[in-house]
Amino acid sequence: MEIVFIFALIVGLILMQSTLLDWFNKLTVRRHYQKFLSQETFYHSIVSRYFKYYNRLNLEEQRKFLFRTYLFRKAKKFHYIEVTETPEMPILVSAVSVQLTLGLDKFLMNYFRDIYVLRDDYHYGFYSRPFQGHVDHSGIYLSWDNFMKGLKGQTPNCNVGLHEMGHALAYVNFITQTEEDKHFKKEFKNFSKVARPIFTAIQEGTKTLLGDYAATNYHEFWAVSVEVFFENPVRFKHDLPELYDAMARLLKQDPMDVFLNARLAA
Ligand SMILES: [Zn+2]
Repeated sequence: MEIVFIFALIVGLILMQSTLLDWFNKLTVRRHYQKFLSQETFYHSIVSRYFKYYNRLNLEEQRKFLFRTYLFRKAKKFHYIEVTETPEMPILVSAVSVQLTLGLDKFLMNYFRDIYVLRDDYHYGFYSRPFQGHVDHSGIYLSWDNFMKGLKGQTPNCNVGLHEMGHALAYVNFITQTEEDKHFKKEFKNFSKVARPIFTAIQEGTKTLLGDYAATNYHEFWAVSVEVFFENPVRFKHDLPELYDAMARLLKQDPMDVFLNARLAA
């Protein structure tokens, strides 16, 4: 009898805890949302200046985009190395991550608390070639001048922000497994069924719009695919339709659709 009582008590406590947690989360989100509303115009002015993708979304999706950008920015600690901080920097870095994960449920990448913004190309570890950005256990690193070139579309098919956030997303799902998105993990297997043979072909010398860097290893193939998916969707869909569709299913968003819908609405 006592065992039954203790068991019921434990179940009861667990249920109560999850209900309380749920309630607490909802309250926290509501509080954040109130604060966000007072800054929405400011966020919009910055994001709309640089994100074509954002400008093509409908109003509801734009608000989701901005609120997520606000939450992401609040959750991170930004460090500036040899570069002068401006109010727009953390917002733009957050927005690039939000663009990538807009279709997914999990977008905070909580494992990464620290984001480092460096002035330009830098040397890292024992590598001889300079880095534009990288991701490791200590944080997400981005060089500001390359980041802005990507954002302004000055480097065709390249967007270092999207590239590094692509690495970060894979990192939290597969390496640390701290913020697994069920859909993303499951669908990644299907993505790889399409992607692996293309990656192998590139390694064997086949030329595609993904470029030679995608042949470095499968991590780079993934990060480059993320960049080109958003930067050059029309050509991506034309040249590698199966990979494009697998990517759209995986990320639960389709830049071609966003582009077409915006044109229809114009
Ligand atoms: Zn990379």
